[in-house]
Amino acid sequence: MSEGKRLFSLEFFPPRTPEAAQKLRVERRQLAQLKPAFCSVTFGAGGSTREGTLTTVLEIRDEGLNGAPHLSCIGSTRENIRAVLAQYRVAGIRHLVALRGDLPSGTAGVGEFRYASELVEFIRDETGDWFHIDVAAYPEVHPQARSAQDDLDNFKRKIDAGADSAITQYFFNADAYWHFVDAAATRGIDVPIVPGIMPIASFSKLARFSDACGAEIPRWIRRQMESYGDDVASVRAFGIDVVTGLCEKLLEGRAPGLHFYTLNQASLTTTVWQRLGLA
Ligand SMILES: Cc1cc2nc3c(=O)[nH]c(=O)nc-3n(C[C@H](O)[C@H](O)[C@H](O)COP(=O)(O)OP(=O)(O)OC[C@H]3O[C@@H](n4cnc5c(N)ncnc54)[C@H](O)[C@@H]3O)c2cc1C
Repeated sequence: MSEGKRLFSLEFFPPRTPEAAQKLRVERRQLAQLKPAFCSVTFGAGGSTREGTLTTVLEIRDEGLNGAPHLSCIGSTRENIRAVLAQYRVAGIRHLVALRGDLPSGTAGVGEFRYASELVEFIRDETGDWFHIDVAAYPEVHPQARSAQDDLDNFKRKIDAGADSAITQYFFNADAYWHFVDAAATRGIDVPIVPGIMPIASFSKLARFSDACGAEIPRWIRRQMESYGDDVASVRAFGIDVVTGLCEKLLEGRAPGLHFYTLNQASLTTTVWQRLGLA
């Protein structure tokens, strides 16, 4: 869906069981009513969900929506990636989210690609302009980056290698996003940098995940969420207020759209989307 030139999109992960796949179809049916510009589907590093990613993307396409598979390169060979790209081309897919990925702990070897910039370069060399390529961006700095400057240099490398646009890691502090966008602009980066939006379904899960991926939960949000304990309804209501407020700030500014991490659940994303008046 677009409002002017802004793009509003959704993200899913591949279901692991037939029951989860069926549940996801039901959730997607509800989310399809929001008319997202595209729906992306994550990819397990090392290829663990490769088939699941493709199957889910094809289902999304058959439901009349644009599907965009994520493709991570860590642990892969050029030959593996070439085969996946060929599979996607045959299926008529034109949009990818190109990532390095994280190997599950205990997995050895990084394969033939070290960084996402190398993957983007490879995709362009192999397939020219066939794919629209999104890459990841980190307003609060990737946890393994040596410095914020290094991380920005890396982001520029991905754009210079041929990425068309970016989706950010989620964040709850709009200033971090504006600062990143301004810093990117001073480096001559002019592609759309779309904020990734994480609806808050469960505070304990969000806190665990945020620690791992380097996203900061501001103290005022953390303390308020902690005070609700097991009161799921209050967590949900407060989370919706926080995320809607963040989205409003981003849309009042220059954000070129929003990308919602749905966690395969329709209700929170739908509520925020409707409160923003996007539906
Ligand atoms: C929108 C989005 C979608 C995602 N989807 C998935 C998914 O589907 N599957 C999945 O497994 N993961 C996914 N992730 C997580 C992502 O794979 C991890 O954050 C991963 O650790 C980094 O991936 P990247 O593509 O950003 O890596 P890169 O851009 O390669 O960066 C990784 C790190 O290396 C550093 N770096 C890069 N180049 C150099 C260099 N030349 N020299 C020194 N340091 C360098 C960077 O600063 C950064 O710290 C997603 C993340 C986002 C934001």
